[in-house]
Amino acid sequence: MALDQTRIDALRDRPLGDMKNFIDGEWRSSAGGDRMDVTSPGTGAPIATLIDSSEADVETAIAAARRSFEAGVWSRMAPAQRKATLFRLAALIERDALELAVLGVRDNGTEISMAIGAEPGSAAATFRFYAEALDKMNGDITPTAPGILSLIHREAAGVVGAIVPWNFPMMIGAWKSAPALAAGNSVVLKPSEAASLTLLKLAELASEAGVPDGVFNVVTGRGSAGRIIALSNDVDVLTFTGSGAVGRQLLHYAADSNFKPVHLELGGKSPNVVFADCGDLAAVARQSARAIFANSGQVCVAASRLLVQDAIYDEFLTHICAAADQTIVGDPLSVGSQSGAIGTAAQLEKNSAFVERARQAGDKVLAGGDPISAEGFYFRPTVIEASSENSPIVQEEVFGPILSVQRFRDEEEAVRLANSTTYGLASGVWTQNLSRAHRMVERLQAGVVHVNCYGGADITAPLVGHKQSGNGFDRSFAAIEKYQKRKTAWIRTA
Ligand code: NAD
Repeated sequence: MALDQTRIDALRDRPLGDMKNFIDGEWRSSAGGDRMDVTSPGTGAPIATLIDSSEADVETAIAAARRSFEAGVWSRMAPAQRKATLFRLAALIERDALELAVLGVRDNGTEISMAIGAEPGSAAATFRFYAEALDKMNGDITPTAPGILSLIHREAAGVVGAIVPWNFPMMIGAWKSAPALAAGNSVVLKPSEAASLTLLKLAELASEAGVPDGVFNVVTGRGSAGRIIALSNDVDVLTFTGSGAVGRQLLHYAADSNFKPVHLELGGKSPNVVFADCGDLAAVARQSARAIFANSGQVCVAASRLLVQDAIYDEFLTHICAAADQTIVGDPLSVGSQSGAIGTAAQLEKNSAFVERARQAGDKVLAGGDPISAEGFYFRPTVIEASSENSPIVQEEVFGPILSVQRFRDEEEAVRLANSTTYGLASGVWTQNLSRAHRMVERLQAGVVHVNCYGGADITAPLVGHKQSGNGFDRSFAAIEKYQKRKTAWIRTA
């Protein structure tokens, strides 16, 4: 969509007020009454308040989901009708795309040029993809002895709890809820306290599209609200995107309750490996810079570790630092901004703290390194040459616009360094040598290996976390199975 600054500006100050939860097809006030402020990262100003859901609020949403599931209003709706409903939802997201994008940017600070495609754009594509998929799945008949008919049914799992982060709430919320709804489940979704507004709006649009009451519920709140979902015996599947620390906690909650399957998509520290034979150094450096500085590095697959071969190291670093310095950081609602705001004040402080730790560890700050003093939360695109492969800046996820740089001699060392963290989410390789590219795809421990590009995946391919980046995947046709259970009908026919 071509972005029109005048239309964006007309939406940027729309009053929002006190938001409610969307439960059982309607806006509901809190039973407990606690509220949280929504601070806009672009300006640092409060723009709305959210319910900090109490246990009773969350339980009400789970009960509504359970009721709607058992009633079969969605789970037993003819697939063709479910499909038509999700198509209508995709169309409504597209109808309101600019409004949703601006709302989301006010909430989490992503630059609008990225948010328009990554948020409403990908959410609409995701709902459409799973709408198209939902009547393309058959059960199975297994090869039994004569006289027995063995049928494998795929059933909706029941109530799906979804807990999502703040960096791309609509996109990730859709990655969870679209396959879950397509499979016939009812959903209780808890957005991050730092980015809830677009998902509340999504719930309203789902209702407008004809998703029956109680089937898609959104409750806002902090981790405590997520904990109620995760501990509930009435939630059949839990799907989560966020940090490893919280993911670990959720596995405990599942063990402490009903053993619900827990699908975890977690953090990353993704290596971007540039070989001397990569081609046009300036062009590769520009793309490598986008791969970390877009959305201020607040991207799970951000290429946050740059590995450069000796022979081109100095020249490549000159290009990367220039690209960092030239990145236009500013008002996320300005069409010209290439990098918007940092999501929260806490995240801004975390960026500064990482730079300070890097300095203390003997790492060298080559570009950026400090906040930009402006209203709102902004941090300069930063490049840090690591003094050791054990430096925190190499090993730990920052989730900010901070790139660590290391050099390598040969392919062997590149593979060793690339694989030397606990994460395994994404990676990139730049080389003109086809055989080397294939070898690297085999040897890199990551759920995706980009070759001569970085990013740009779509809904057809899974996003998989290897190692401690998760235990599952989002996206692709196969994701529907995360939200189904199998049942065998073992029938004597003779
Ligand atoms: P986070 O783990 O702090 O929070 C994620 C969600 O969990 C929020 O909704 C939060 O309220 C909730 N939560 C917090 N404590 C909880 C608890 N005890 N029980 C239940 N829910 C709880 O993560 P974040 O800061 O929102 O997001 C950043 C992280 O997400 C980064 O690590 C990033 O890499 C990761 N991420 C991963 C992917 C992926 O696809 N693998 C995509 C985007 C972001």
